[in-house]
Amino acid sequence: MQRAEAGKPLIKFNHCRKCIYSFSVPSCCPLCRQDLGSRKLEEAPVSISNPFTNGHQEKCAFLLRPTEGTFLREYDGRSDLHVGITNTNGVVYNYTVHGVQRDEAGWEQSVSIPLLQPGMFGLMDQWDKYLEDFSTSWAWLPHRYEEEHHNCYSYTLTFINCILATEGKEQLDKDEFTEKFVVPRTRKASKYITLYRAIDEHGFYVTDRPDREPSPPLGGGLC
Ligand SMILES: [Zn+2]
Repeated sequence: MQRAEAGKPLIKFNHCRKCIYSFSVPSCCPLCRQDLGSRKLEEAPVSISNPFTNGHQEKCAFLLRPTEGTFLREYDGRSDLHVGITNTNGVVYNYTVHGVQRDEAGWEQSVSIPLLQPGMFGLMDQWDKYLEDFSTSWAWLPHRYEEEHHNCYSYTLTFINCILATEGKEQLDKDEFTEKFVVPRTRKASKYITLYRAIDEHGFYVTDRPDREPSPPLGGGLC
């Protein structure tokens, strides 16, 4: 899995009254072939934030990745997703039909959601022990695995609820968790994947600039 990093960076620049996306700024505009060497400030390229991170570099985070393959290459928006939780050394704990796995590789292209607010050092000190103790519970023995109702989601959500309980916070049910945390990220990831693959295939991707309407009042100008 050497090639499974977060992928090439994406950038966006404006030319020909369009938004043009590519992996790097070309020397000339792919639409009009005009030299891009001297460009106006409003045409300066901006980088597009990458929704994927190397999960093994994330501490105390919830991670999401396709069960098979990677987001950028194989994910089709409906593929099964696998989830896990990192300890403070980037080891990814996840529950499968073989019991709790402690992965040191394979989560290099994940969607990551931090589970600790900055400054919660007390909890961070205890994190690895909590996670290890939780994982050795009989509940997560291999024979208890059940694809629909006792799976990787049950494992991570139960752990997250244990943490919320120690913080005196309200519990989350599966729908709430999916709605609040998972869906917004997978939606963003899907858009990024579409863009990424189009650029990979054609070298660039073009959209109209929605900001060219008669002067937008406030905060306009984004596309
Ligand atoms: Zn142009």
